[in-house]
Amino acid sequence: MTFESLGLKKELLKAIEEKGYTTPSPIQEKAIPVILERKDVLASAQTGTGKTAGFTLPILQIISETKNPKFRPIRALILTPTRELAAQIYDNVREYSKHLNIRSTVIFGGVKPKSQIATIKNGVDVLVATPGRLLDLHNQKALSLKRVDLFVLDEADRMLDMGFVRDINKVISYLPEKRQNLLFSATFSKEIKKLAKGILTNPAMVEAAPENTTAEMVTQKIYRVPKSRKTAMITQLISDGNWSQVLIFTRTKHGANRLAEKLQKQDISAAAIHGNKSQGARTKALKGFKENTIRVLVATDIAARGLDIPLLPHVINFELPNIPEDYVHRIGRTGRAGASGEAISLVSDEEVEYVKNIEKLLNQKLIIDELRGFDITPTDQPQQKPGSKKRQQAGGNRPTSKSPSKNTSKRNFGRKRNTSDGNNESSSSDNKKRNNSKRRPSRGPKKGDY
Ligand code: AMP
Repeated sequence: MTFESLGLKKELLKAIEEKGYTTPSPIQEKAIPVILERKDVLASAQTGTGKTAGFTLPILQIISETKNPKFRPIRALILTPTRELAAQIYDNVREYSKHLNIRSTVIFGGVKPKSQIATIKNGVDVLVATPGRLLDLHNQKALSLKRVDLFVLDEADRMLDMGFVRDINKVISYLPEKRQNLLFSATFSKEIKKLAKGILTNPAMVEAAPENTTAEMVTQKIYRVPKSRKTAMITQLISDGNWSQVLIFTRTKHGANRLAEKLQKQDISAAAIHGNKSQGARTKALKGFKENTIRVLVATDIAARGLDIPLLPHVINFELPNIPEDYVHRIGRTGRAGASGEAISLVSDEEVEYVKNIEKLLNQKLIIDELRGFDITPTDQPQQKPGSKKRQQAGGNRPTSKSPSKNTSKRNFGRKRNTSDGNNESSSSDNKKRNNSKRRPSRGPKKGDY
């Protein structure tokens, strides 16, 4: 399969070639033709599958083939939950449209709106936006959505997790009734299905990977360790392995700050990224991490949402997430675009319950390993045989996806060279209405956690 055979025009093919992509990814193969047929699409795809190009390329083709009204109203709206994801999609839109006469821009909170308003006034065809800033500017009458012909709801599951459902419905109420809708989500809860039903008309179903499966290319393991020794373990893992690029997840913003500070004290360059950091600090941290001037990036779940760092080799869960789906998102930061990666989870006694929920979701047991110098605490002992180095839980195997034969999304597409896309997304302080839940094994994040 080639990009050409998907029906894309030469200006787009040229841009794709310049990006270094040689083969379409499975989601691109499936989504591009149906979008070009002007069908609504319900797509199951996580970040890392090439989904951004999967919707951006056909949208650009459609826009470029329809007549440009002189004043350039917004004709394609891409709604996405976080600022960094918005910036990342916008970078993609710009790169893919560079040989076309298409104007695009991005708007998100955390920065002054003045220049965003000015750009929109000058006319844009494609707008990438986070919900909060979009509604703010709409309320100020700085933009109109009346001519939107293509509407993309990206990372719909995360949008709902972040409490954006009312905002989404409001945005939809400003769109014309007749339009093409594309909805992308990594997971499909009842709520997502309900949302999709309200938005889409006779959608084509497009699936990039079976629901809730993890990339085959990611080796996953667990180290059992008391809370108090986690930082020491991380320091040892990084030094022993001489790791140069590690993404670490913590549950809270304070936890992320604390860990970054502790690592800095050990002379390991580290930065934290979360919703309390200014946009400038977030961008700087991410840039440093990608350019290898910062060795460790410590992130909260929402901050790290959709981070696209090519060939990220190591992801560590300093704490396990209480929402099992977040585990899948986290480890999706490694083993990207066909590369292999390692995901390590540090699990204290309090978190054993989370392991069970994750294993249930993945339908597989996670390997428990031991690290030199870190004895397992007495309560962790039962399955260990003296002298055995590596242990597995009952029924354990090397982790693979639920149905490995189907999970081809991260293997089948390649590119000529490793182009650093220089994009990313992460946290959102656009998010105002997050769940205020207590710490519990299987429900939403604590208010203010991110
Ligand atoms: P996404 O899932 O859209 O965040 O994309 C994940 C990564 O895959 C990004 O770095 C893209 O630049 C890259 N990518 C997208 N499509 C292709 C392709 N056909 N071949 C190689 N890499 C791709």
